[in-house]
Amino acid sequence: MSEQEGITVKKSDDFSEWYTQVVQRAELADYAPVQGCMIIRPNGYALWENMQKTLDQEFKKLGVRNAYFPQFIPESFLKKEAEHFQGFVPECAWVTIGGNTELGEKLAIRPTSETIIYSMFSKWIRSWRDLPLKINQWCNIVRWESATKFFVRTTEFLWQEGHTAHTTKEEADKMMMDILKTYQRFIEDYLAIPVLTGKKTDKEKFAGALTTTTLEAFMPDGKAIQMGTSHNLGQNFSKVFDMKFLDKSEKEKFVWNTSWGVSTRMVGALIMAHGDDKGLVMPPKIAHTHAVIIPIFYKTTEKKKVLKKAKDVKKKLENLKVILDDRTEYTPGWKFNEWELKGIPLRIEIGPKDIKKKQVVVVRRDNGKKITIKESQLTKKISRLLEEIQKSLYRKARKLLKDNIRTVKNYEEFKKVINEKKGFIRACWCGNESCEEKIKDETGATIRTIPLKREKIFSNCICCGKKAKEVVYFAKAY
Ligand SMILES: [Zn+2]
Repeated sequence: MSEQEGITVKKSDDFSEWYTQVVQRAELADYAPVQGCMIIRPNGYALWENMQKTLDQEFKKLGVRNAYFPQFIPESFLKKEAEHFQGFVPECAWVTIGGNTELGEKLAIRPTSETIIYSMFSKWIRSWRDLPLKINQWCNIVRWESATKFFVRTTEFLWQEGHTAHTTKEEADKMMMDILKTYQRFIEDYLAIPVLTGKKTDKEKFAGALTTTTLEAFMPDGKAIQMGTSHNLGQNFSKVFDMKFLDKSEKEKFVWNTSWGVSTRMVGALIMAHGDDKGLVMPPKIAHTHAVIIPIFYKTTEKKKVLKKAKDVKKKLENLKVILDDRTEYTPGWKFNEWELKGIPLRIEIGPKDIKKKQVVVVRRDNGKKITIKESQLTKKISRLLEEIQKSLYRKARKLLKDNIRTVKNYEEFKKVINEKKGFIRACWCGNESCEEKIKDETGATIRTIPLKREKIFSNCICCGKKAKEVVYFAKAY
């Protein structure tokens, strides 16, 4: 590995090629021998692990417990809820043979687990005392895809799916919203990606849901990406899976369900949102490594002294995730490039001059700025720098989002913006699916979200010109 493979295209010139290069050269993921699939390498998996860790704690605060269900789902289960079946069948992978035996009933490899989980809920729920029931599982999902886009679109991916049952619609609505807020906090605070939240239209909602809420982020190529969804499933599944409970007056009632999920797609969004021409940029709160120490010496007489100091510095920063790159087969310059490509938030350089001056030189990955820090202030200053980087990445992404929300009042303008600038378009809509479909067919843009807090109508429907019902946000999306 003497020849270093950096990023050879600019993010602003060829976004798609830039993304593929960052993913592969920062060793986040690789193509799998199976079409449509990817391999998540340790650098990418470490990001997912940190996301899991943080979210798992948040779910537990809401009284959610983890469990595990089989990945094989009988066809008859999927068929029980008609909309759900129609929504998922086009992308299902099926098992028809086990060993040498042809199966009596086809088994789908889970595209989502509502049906198998609710078949068990119906056994476990008897009375109001068993509710609410809040289950989550971390697992893999298969949805057949012909095209591969690392982390964003693959046949198999990793996610969490939460499934809950409640006594009332209000309780289910609250659960759906609690999760939406939890996701939003996580995505904004940890991934440093601002999101628009709101409801999906009937056309865009989850197959079988009453209400779908969503978190939509802006990617620097002008497209939107759905970061997660949280649904109130109403009683659609409880009626077909017979999930009933006896209420306090001994009356039999159907439960209200929610389901919600986020996936490894968030890793893709993080790469796209913050990466630059040198490679990945990791927000410190989700990074697997906060800083890399690089000892710099040119004479062997300096080596011992510099390495000793580097180890001392690492020891002082033991409350952070710090690595010491003391490999001697690579030059400092080579190492700088490698860790920049891999997105480590801070680089700490230590050379003989720095030792004399009792200082270290720190370089920020996000803006390339060099800062000299006195050894005596090391711990405090490094922690502060990491906080600053986290905030600064968020601010930058928020400005980009704001600059890319454009309000338009007529369809001509709409088409011009979607073709030339992309981003989110804020426009008024009559609420009819025919207009929604026409806009999608003609421009490729879909309604990403209807804000939860209704915004004031400022024009007629962008498409048909009739009276508008909602202010909505359109975009082309991943
Ligand atoms: Zn209309």
